[in-house]
Amino acid sequence: MSSADTTRLDREKPVSGPPLRPCVFFDRDGIVNVSPGPGYVERPEDFHLVSAWLDALRVTNERGYAAVIITNQRGVGRGLMKEKTLAEIHALVRQAVAAQGLVLDDIYYCSATDNAHPDRKPNPGMLLRAARDHRLDLARSWMVGDNESDVEAGHRAGCRAVRVSTDSEATAAEFHIPDMADLPALLQKLL
Ligand SMILES: [Mg+2]
Repeated sequence: MSSADTTRLDREKPVSGPPLRPCVFFDRDGIVNVSPGPGYVERPEDFHLVSAWLDALRVTNERGYAAVIITNQRGVGRGLMKEKTLAEIHALVRQAVAAQGLVLDDIYYCSATDNAHPDRKPNPGMLLRAARDHRLDLARSWMVGDNESDVEAGHRAGCRAVRVSTDSEATAAEFHIPDMADLPALLQKLL
């Protein structure tokens, strides 16, 4: 092999960096904050954080996992809420996290109204993008959500899933718990 070839091959090597990290992806409505039901949280004053989520985030941080929120927000695409309002609501999440001395790596949202949009759960686009942006190891990661579309998005991204719901509906999730209060202890076992 000529020296020119060696140089070319070296350039094609993946950029080195820190090792990939596992992550816990959290759905937002019904996990991070109290579910608004079939509608949307359209105003910051209607956003109510779930304290057990902060406890779950603490476990996630302590175990060295990244933490990312992955949320469909079609209300923006439907014109029911401005992107600026969504940013205000997400600033509240970040403030609450910082006030506890915790770390949330990122928040991804999809405002698309089209179910075929690659980012709209159950499509896995946001998880795949987060994995590239934050160097995440999807095979060691978990998706936590209250809907089966969260479970499906997690599985399609190559993650395992936790479903949090009182539904008796069948779930493909590896773990099913009825209440957010059970999540911190479950993550202590899983991570
Ligand atoms: Mg939800």
